[in-house]
Amino acid sequence: MTEYRVTCIPGDGIGPEIMAVAKVAVAATGVRIRWIDVEAGADVMDKYGTPLPQAVIDSVRDTKVAIKGPITTPVGSGFRSVNVALRKELDLYANLRPAVSIPGVRSRYEDVDLVVVRENTEDLYAGVEHMVGPDAAESIKIITRRASERIARFAFDYARREKRRKVTAVHKANIMKLSDGLFLEVAREVAAGYPDIEFEDRIVDTMCMQLVQKPELYDVLLCPNLYGDIISDLCAGLIGGLGVAPGANIGEHMAVFEPVHGSAPRYAGLDKADPTALVLSAVLMLAYLGEAEASHALFEAVRAVIGEGRRVTYDLGGTSGTRDMGEAIAEEVARRI
Ligand code: NAD
Repeated sequence: MTEYRVTCIPGDGIGPEIMAVAKVAVAATGVRIRWIDVEAGADVMDKYGTPLPQAVIDSVRDTKVAIKGPITTPVGSGFRSVNVALRKELDLYANLRPAVSIPGVRSRYEDVDLVVVRENTEDLYAGVEHMVGPDAAESIKIITRRASERIARFAFDYARREKRRKVTAVHKANIMKLSDGLFLEVAREVAAGYPDIEFEDRIVDTMCMQLVQKPELYDVLLCPNLYGDIISDLCAGLIGGLGVAPGANIGEHMAVFEPVHGSAPRYAGLDKADPTALVLSAVLMLAYLGEAEASHALFEAVRAVIGEGRRVTYDLGGTSGTRDMGEAIAEEVARRI
């Protein structure tokens, strides 16, 4: 049986606790993984002089697949987000965030089934900012044909592979005629090569309203970086919040899987955090590795445990701790494999 090598970055805050659960849950599928544990984040600053040691980047380049817990970005402390740096350094240009309703998770909505495909490398997140005199600041929004084309292709290839029916490009090209105009123009050109997938576009403000009113009308949402960031949190809200929203950062030859949520410092070390988002990120990772059956079994196990509602964390209406919910998921996986 294949043994995969996967880089594991537990992160800080609630990261190590939920990562322990994700490992147990993956082990229960029977897929053999050799975890290469590496450290990153504020806690390793003293030891390595940087929150993102080179060894972390080298390890992901070597194993090609990583799973990552959240990492705190201290406000105003000098270093930029480790998360953004890792995505940039490894050119993980596609951020994939599925938002799928899970029966048993409290939400005003049922049957939400959306996937946000967010461009991960440019737009206002390129970090090109400067002061113009003492009283004005300028942030430069960069949109290139190359990055727009590869993210559009990614969205359509994903839609085709996952048998999805429609891609909706999200933009504000009525106002930003050049930058968002280019993103939309390229999306249209790429769409022409995928006649089997329906294509449409929405202005970002209309998109937000429609997602709140009629999320069932949408399927795959193709977004530049900033709109994708905002829309994916909106979509996480539709399915019951950050605790259950998984994600993946995917490049040409490698991928890093991580939950949408942050390090929730308030709950660190208390055995209270919901491990679902990271375990569902592991579901995406297993699919990426080609372990479709294990991926499906783990997904169904999470749904079963949440649906039953007996051994779930506080945010899901239960009284279980992180570890107990993890054990419940692992037991459920073992029953299904
Ligand atoms: P957060 O996601 O950590 O927390 C937002 C709210 O959701 C809090 O009330 C928190 O307690 C709750 N929450 C989040 N995840 C939960 C879980 N698994 N179980 C139960 N409750 C959960 O967002 P924040 O407070 O804005 O950020 C905290 C830190 O995390 C910041 O330093 C931020 O920069 C960082 N962050 C990191 C990542 C990442 O590593 N990819 C992503 C977002 C934020």
